[in-house]
Amino acid sequence: MAVHDDCIFCKIANHVIESDYVYEDDLVAAFRDMSPLAPTHVLVVPKDHYADLDDGVPAQTAAALLHAAEEVAKAEGITKSGFRVVSNSGADAGQAVGHLHLHVLGGRRLTDDFA
Ligand code: AMP
Repeated sequence: MAVHDDCIFCKIANHVIESDYVYEDDLVAAFRDMSPLAPTHVLVVPKDHYADLDDGVPAQTAAALLHAAEEVAKAEGITKSGFRVVSNSGADAGQAVGHLHLHVLGGRRLTDDFA
């Protein structure tokens, strides 16, 4: 498995460091953002390391990420009220952590220009 020793999200996704998990399957893990911008703010990450969406992500992994985002929204009870899925890739998007992740946000009216 392509896990990087110096990557915090690799460590969380593979339970080297534990976090507050919301969902997990063979390919991805979802855990709560440490600086939440909404009542629900969960990060969905692949267990293998990809820098961002432009890093040769296999279709199966991309599908697993989106599937997990929906599972998170269901578990959080925000499918009816609405939710947002965002992935920042690269400098102009303000990507701070260099391991592909989806933000799943909800639980309030999202009017701002986030994330
Ligand atoms: P981005 O700007 O899209 O790269 O977002 C990175 C996100 O990761 C930010 O919302 C941070 O609050 C979050 N974050 C960074 N380190 C951790 C961590 N160890 N556990 C949970 N969330 C984290």
